[in-house]
Amino acid sequence: MPTYKARLDSKLPHAGTSIFAVMSKLALENGAINLSQGYPDFPTSPRLIELVHKAMITGHNQYAPMPGIFSLREAIAEKLDRLYGTQYDPDTEITVTAGATQAIFTAIAATVRKDDEVILFAPAYDSYAPSIEANGGIPVEIEMELPSFTIDWQKVKQSINERTRMILINTPHNPTGSVLSDQDMQQLRDLTANSSIIILSDEVYEHMIYDGQKHNSVARYPDLADRSFLVASFGKTFHNTGWKMGYCAAPHELMKEFRKIHQFNVFSVNHPMQKAISIYLKDPENYEYLPGFFEAKRNVFLEALEGSRFSFIPSKGTYFQLLGYQEISDEGDMELASRMTREHKVASIPVSAFYQNKTDNKFLRFCFAKSEETLLRGAEILRTL
Ligand code: PMP
Ligand code: GLN
Repeated sequence: MPTYKARLDSKLPHAGTSIFAVMSKLALENGAINLSQGYPDFPTSPRLIELVHKAMITGHNQYAPMPGIFSLREAIAEKLDRLYGTQYDPDTEITVTAGATQAIFTAIAATVRKDDEVILFAPAYDSYAPSIEANGGIPVEIEMELPSFTIDWQKVKQSINERTRMILINTPHNPTGSVLSDQDMQQLRDLTANSSIIILSDEVYEHMIYDGQKHNSVARYPDLADRSFLVASFGKTFHNTGWKMGYCAAPHELMKEFRKIHQFNVFSVNHPMQKAISIYLKDPENYEYLPGFFEAKRNVFLEALEGSRFSFIPSKGTYFQLLGYQEISDEGDMELASRMTREHKVASIPVSAFYQNKTDNKFLRFCFAKSEETLLRGAEILRTL
């Protein structure tokens, strides 16, 4: 076995294996119902698979253009205009990426320098802080306010200084299922007006928003769109997280820098899948059903939990539901999630994993992007605890 013998200072000394990989592995080893990692247990569209196959057969098998095929960028621009009323130029303002994770890393690598501060809100998706740190930046974590995981904008104001380069937002929010309101967006506009702060807006759950609410994309607000990288994921939208396809939209001054990193990191993204999605995305019916579809799943899960000792506020967006277990156990969330997987055969994600200092508010996250049968079986076990 080769062994590196010289000294190596890790760029990410605190990074371990992602909690999603850990819990999915534990679920598999224990034959548990896996409501941990966020992915559907139902198939992607057969039509979309057919379109990928056709693209392969018709020879779309070599490198795609660096920013993505034009027809896909055009379809993305049309969708952004249709839904949020902002016109992005497909030529200079949209880049197709290998999933949202890559888009997030690239946006940070393109703009955050050594000792720049990036404000983020905890609990925060696990890739944010390492992406900032790997690029020399400093994550400034602001904890969201219980019980509904809202942002205290006064705290944000106090955290902004001349080193603040970026504010990273995520709505609908993983893992809490909270969403940013019109008032939140107004606060963000007020706080960033006349500054050079860039916003990185993670909107991978844009179509998973419930109870008749509208998704507050940065693209709805011209002054925010002017300073934002908007990141989206086809994996989330089209039930194929394994395809790792997504995109970034930003004003061309920002996108120019984004592409400098993108071209030397990824260069270009899977060609046949781009071709297929470019056709599939043109039909709004392929995403307009999503809020109703996932809201029904949330409701099945929550109704099946009736009578359980877990506490909850119904998820407003994403395909995640937090359950509080204060009434059930004094254990740490990590310990409980692991024990529930081993002993009760239902896997979840301990929310402390989304805080840099592992704050434990006694919540577990459950993914409801699952078949009704899986949700009912999972809830049946949870009711017994
Ligand atoms: N951001 C958030 C908030 C997520 O939950 C996910 C889910 N995986 C991602 C980004 C990454 O998306 P992708 O799989 O397209 O890289
Ligand atoms: N976004 C998914 C989740 O929150 C997992 C993605 C991953 O495993 N990296 O569960």
